[in-house]
Amino acid sequence: MFYYETEAIVLSSFPLAEADKVVTFLTPNYGVLRGVANGARNVKSRFSGTLEPFSSVNVTFSHRERELVRIEKAELKKSYFHLVSKPLLLPYFAFIADTLISFIPQGVNEETTYRMVKACLETASSLNLPNAQSVPNEMKLLTLYFGIWMLKLSGYLPNWKYCGGCKKRFDEDYHLRIFINNFNAFCASCRRAEKASTSLNKEHLEIFRLALKLDPQNFIKNIEGNFLKEASYLHGVIEHLLHSVKEGIE
Ligand SMILES: [Zn+2]
Repeated sequence: MFYYETEAIVLSSFPLAEADKVVTFLTPNYGVLRGVANGARNVKSRFSGTLEPFSSVNVTFSHRERELVRIEKAELKKSYFHLVSKPLLLPYFAFIADTLISFIPQGVNEETTYRMVKACLETASSLNLPNAQSVPNEMKLLTLYFGIWMLKLSGYLPNWKYCGGCKKRFDEDYHLRIFINNFNAFCASCRRAEKASTSLNKEHLEIFRLALKLDPQNFIKNIEGNFLKEASYLHGVIEHLLHSVKEGIE
């Protein structure tokens, strides 16, 4: 038997049969892996407490079947369960986990994605998130950051340089408005023919630029002070785009 060792972030875990769990991980070198942890539901299991969503772990696994690995060992490095299990934040983390599971195949190198997700988790854990009654802006901005990166890394971020219809280069005009239809950007003249209805202005494009340039912590600081309203609009746009990609994949 050949064993592999890797660091990983747990994305989900479900009960299987009486004592086992099926666990999904994000790894830097093997993409999203699904595996069986035998006996993980037993009280005295060697996996005790390590397989909660978003736990950062070191995993040892071996191949069992083609699509399901066998998890031999999991060592907890850091738990984020106190954070991701907060009822207000849960939907945001569930969205992050679901998106990663749908977008990332098994067996591929995903170091950049892995580092990005880890940075997002670190940022979330350093935020001051008291017992808020509503979702803190920081969490929304963090999800936006994650979404922009997922589109970028999967190659679905629209090209903001040229119009997808007439190929004219978008200039840095003060009145710049870009329209998007699915994953293409169009100028105002081409928008009707292309049925592009979502309108983006210069501030929206600046948010994209900042997300791709900054780490999540500095992105949040920048946006909170300057573009909070625009970010909230973009949040909806990004979610819609990610949803379209997911539907295409499934
Ligand atoms: Zn055009």
